[in-house]
Amino acid sequence: MRKPKLREIREALKSFFSPAFTSRFPARPAPAPPAYRGKGLFHEDKCIGCGACAEVCPADAIEIIDDPDSQPPQRTLIRHDDICIFCGQCQALCTTGEGIECTSEYELSTFDRKTCAVSVAKELYLCYMCGKPITTKDHLRWLADKLGPRRYTNPTLILVAEEKLKLISAPAGEDHPAPDRRHIMQILCPHCRRQVLLREIWG
Ligand code: SF4
Ligand code: SF4
Repeated sequence: MRKPKLREIREALKSFFSPAFTSRFPARPAPAPPAYRGKGLFHEDKCIGCGACAEVCPADAIEIIDDPDSQPPQRTLIRHDDICIFCGQCQALCTTGEGIECTSEYELSTFDRKTCAVSVAKELYLCYMCGKPITTKDHLRWLADKLGPRRYTNPTLILVAEEKLKLISAPAGEDHPAPDRRHIMQILCPHCRRQVLLREIWG
């Protein structure tokens, strides 16, 4: 029984004369350890607006708002840090690998939850036939670049790549309700592309 007591006394004396282990935060800054997952940040130049981060988010903390009626049509991605559980899945599974970051900032206390949101806005491509959003311009351009010569299997990707090269301009949204072969070389959503191709092959 005496030995443990002596050990406790030794520990108490050692603690009493050694400097405090706890940090002096907030009097002094206390940097987060490496790989800490804190406040979110979109990197606008690296994010392509694909929405994969919202798909994988387990807390549903990333909101996607498509506005096809704005000029130009726009997609906005909003990460709500007041809902986020800081798991890091959005950063780990981001399509480009650099579009979103969980920074080391952890001072998120606030009286206004609106200040917890970070966002990025990207221009949308709309389907030439049905007018619904397909995806963002940056996403289709990224796909066209990634596929290289294989993009020539998909007319939408050819048009996107050519537009980037300024060889053609984006088609104006005329009203062509019935699919026919004129639509093959237009920017179409997968549903309308299927309709056009089926009409072309089967009549
Ligand atoms: S590029 Fe990354 S951050 Fe941007 S929408 Fe896609 S998955 Fe999210
Ligand atoms: S860190 Fe996790 S919970 Fe937070 S936005 Fe990213 S995926 Fe969602």
